[in-house]
Amino acid sequence: MKQYLQKMAEQLEINLTSDMLSKFEIFYNMLLETNKTMNLTAITEMHEVVLKHFIDSIALLNYIELSNKTVIDVGTGAGFPGIPLAILFPNTKFMLMDSLQKRLKFIDSVVDACDMKNVSTIHGRAEDLGHDVNYREKFDICVSRAVAALPVLLELCSPFVKVNGLFVSYKSELLKEELQQSEKALSILRCELMKQYDYTIPDSDFYRVYAVFKKNGALQKKYPRQAGKPKKNPL
Ligand code: SAM
Repeated sequence: MKQYLQKMAEQLEINLTSDMLSKFEIFYNMLLETNKTMNLTAITEMHEVVLKHFIDSIALLNYIELSNKTVIDVGTGAGFPGIPLAILFPNTKFMLMDSLQKRLKFIDSVVDACDMKNVSTIHGRAEDLGHDVNYREKFDICVSRAVAALPVLLELCSPFVKVNGLFVSYKSELLKEELQQSEKALSILRCELMKQYDYTIPDSDFYRVYAVFKKNGALQKKYPRQAGKPKKNPL
């Protein structure tokens, strides 16, 4: 696994130290082991885990400056993209959030085993935590992958971003369509699409795109709406 990961990262001009590779190996082994008893990932074949989970998570660093920032990962699940990014950026503080406690327990055990000092977890729904003064408008960057369609995701994620901060949505082919459906949400939530970065994951034909949004102003108090509403009735 380590050799393949290193080779694929090199193709993106990302240099992984032996310490980082060891952490990825611990994470990989724990992911597969825990997945036998807990639903963490449908992807278990080594090359696919490397490409679709690890490489997909970290390729972002070729486009966005992540050093010495505060980052929240909304709907992190088994730790994607948060854990791989945190392995590469030990000086950046990561808050990994999910509404499923057992997945966070898994992440806590990975963080412990890898001796990572830059990762915390928080259990709750984005709709609730987005109103908590400890999290609202407190992060330089919010990242999120495979949680919801863009109009919903913008309402779940933008509350955590500081004014002038960034929200990065990990997407693929559906982005264009989802952007067309997000005009109203972008305006209400005071976000604008700053840039899209697309690429194909090495050694595959997996097309990926990072949509980067800038938050231009503070959010109205009523957003996010109560739990379930953003999904049921998107802006
Ligand atoms: N981001 C991970 C990935 O890419 O592998 C996990 C994706 S998984 C399909 C979606 C995750 O988002 C689940 O773990 C779920 O519990 C979480 N989630 C969904 N809605 C949420 C909400 N409103 N607040 C917090 N977490 C949420």
